[in-house]
Amino acid sequence: MRNLKDLTRPTIWNLTPYSSARDEYKGSDNVTFLDANENPYSAPYNRYPDPAQNKLKKKISEIKGVASSSIFLGNGSDEAIDLLFRVFCEPNIDNVVAIAPTYGMYKVCADINDIDYRSVLLNDEYQFCTHALLEKTDKQTKIIFLCSPNNPTANNLDRKEIIKLLTTFEGLVVVDEAYIDFSDAPSFTKELNKYPNLIVLQTFSKAWGAAAVRLGMAFASPEIIQLLSKVKYPYNINQLTQNYALNLLKDTVTIEKWINEIKEERKRVARLLQKTTCVTKIYPSDANFILIKVTDANAIYNYLVEKGIIIRNRHSVVLCEDCLRITIGTPDENTQLLNFLQLYK
Ligand SMILES: *Cc1c(COP(=O)(O)O)cnc(C)c1O
Repeated sequence: MRNLKDLTRPTIWNLTPYSSARDEYKGSDNVTFLDANENPYSAPYNRYPDPAQNKLKKKISEIKGVASSSIFLGNGSDEAIDLLFRVFCEPNIDNVVAIAPTYGMYKVCADINDIDYRSVLLNDEYQFCTHALLEKTDKQTKIIFLCSPNNPTANNLDRKEIIKLLTTFEGLVVVDEAYIDFSDAPSFTKELNKYPNLIVLQTFSKAWGAAAVRLGMAFASPEIIQLLSKVKYPYNINQLTQNYALNLLKDTVTIEKWINEIKEERKRVARLLQKTTCVTKIYPSDANFILIKVTDANAIYNYLVEKGIIIRNRHSVVLCEDCLRITIGTPDENTQLLNFLQLYK
């Protein structure tokens, strides 16, 4: 890996971050707070939240087996994605490389930040080849984005190929693991100590059932985490979200139960889709959604909308012609969808 300083925008490397009242005072809670111009009434939400989210990071650290210093928390993983551009990519100069098709936010954030976004098509099995990605890189390539399990293709990317990329690419490699809890593949968080250029993204929005509270995680070396923390809004994770997440993390048993039910339903839905005439292909899924190829994606999408069922039409996405993406819902919701699809002609 190249020197981290070389990979970072000079402005950010040299930046003195905002230091808030809650940043400066690190002592006990049993004192009188007259430092942050807060209203003394309406506890507990009258106070600014912990800008470093120490309590929440400690809990996540225990569950994920990653040191607190290697954890960044964002307003969804979307915040971490945007910060990666702002920290490492110089507008109109640097570029990033990504697989296609994949999650749309990488390109949107690249566009917003005036960063050249270079994509490389996956093969017929929706897998990538390290060589092809490296061919698109040059000295100005700061980040390569991977997503595994990938959205919208639903499959795990080949682990050996990811490791090959981590060892051969000199810049940063992001592995977005938003759907890792639904996959049998081990998380790359276990590999952080081996690869200093690795950044793993996870989120509370999918398996953890908390898309509304907006909480995403980035795991990386403490040096990378410090750079992200320097640029984020001081109070990017509000107290309601921190409290909600702390409570959620106490009940990992319920979350395991949800994951298992969703995986069981994924099997059932795939099996029944096989018997549906308008479905021509069911792609294997390691996520909480299934990608299918159908006879006419636009028509079937509109038919389902009329029936009050909204799925995702991916027809206009490269390598996804006539494809629909179906999120696994409750057994009842899935049955409703399957019934309507079977009636379609
Ligand atoms: C859903 C999703 C996310 C989640 O983003 P949040 O901002 O954390 O809600 C991230 N990456 C991928 C690939 C996703 O599909």
